[in-house]
Amino acid sequence: MKTALITGSTSGIGLGIAREFAREKYNIVFNGLEANGAEIAAEVGKEFGVEVLFSPANMLKPEEIKAMVEEGIKKFGVIDVLVNNAGIQFVSPVEDFPEDKWNAIIAINLSSAFHTTKHVWTKMKEQKFGRIINIASAHGLVASEFKSAYVASKHGIVGFTKTIALEGAPFGITANAICPGYVKTPLVEKQIIDQAKAHNMPESEVISKVMLYKQAIKEFVSVETLGKLSVFLASETASTITGTAMPVDGGWNAQ
Ligand code: NAD
Repeated sequence: MKTALITGSTSGIGLGIAREFAREKYNIVFNGLEANGAEIAAEVGKEFGVEVLFSPANMLKPEEIKAMVEEGIKKFGVIDVLVNNAGIQFVSPVEDFPEDKWNAIIAINLSSAFHTTKHVWTKMKEQKFGRIINIASAHGLVASEFKSAYVASKHGIVGFTKTIALEGAPFGITANAICPGYVKTPLVEKQIIDQAKAHNMPESEVISKVMLYKQAIKEFVSVETLGKLSVFLASETASTITGTAMPVDGGWNAQ
């Protein structure tokens, strides 16, 4: 049985990805700040008959990230698949962008992936197999106004993905970034409110006129699509797919 550690997996996309790995009988290390995280993890474990561990490690704190990975390795022996998914968003014109929000976005969306990767690396290398999947964003490939920190963090993680793909290649470790368009999760529900303020527009218009405006397919991307793609990237079949930044964005990046 293989083990997948997924950061930010007690909500939204991360939870969707965790469910698809559990369906395929991976043991799961869950992580997230949701107060009922341990219960969410236990329920998924029970539903799919797999072992789970829940860590409330805060991705702002490198020492907590290290302890989470060590706990996972202690319980399961090795982390075969690492999905760096935890992320936050803040929308504001650059001249008003609060410094603390900039720092938190860079730390959670980008630096935490460096710390998790660093700590899973030795065991992956020893067993000559590892899969690192970074949940970037369409904003890892293109920008939108008012999202300076988020766009910078997501472009950053695409660069980090390429680098570790090269370093992992001799050891059977692949690294890929998935770049979703809009997925209807709590993160996006909050953005609808923030974007409405930034664009001075009613919330109802934000979805069609701002968010899905850039996607050719005017539908939210589903968490199942991202989960099943992640499971494929983690498979033996995907051993030569590495260093990519894969848009799953309804054609946004085709334009
Ligand atoms: P979400 O808010 O539903 O879930 C985010 C998860 O990250 C939660 O479990 C939360 O507890 C966790 N998290 C946040 N800060 C944390 C911290 N400091 N320490 C530990 N965990 C923390 O959001 P989501 O939409 O599922 O987003 C998941 C990822 O997908 C993010 O990286 C986001 O940028 C990316 N993404 C989302 C969309 C979208 O449209 N929803 C599109 C492209 C990319």
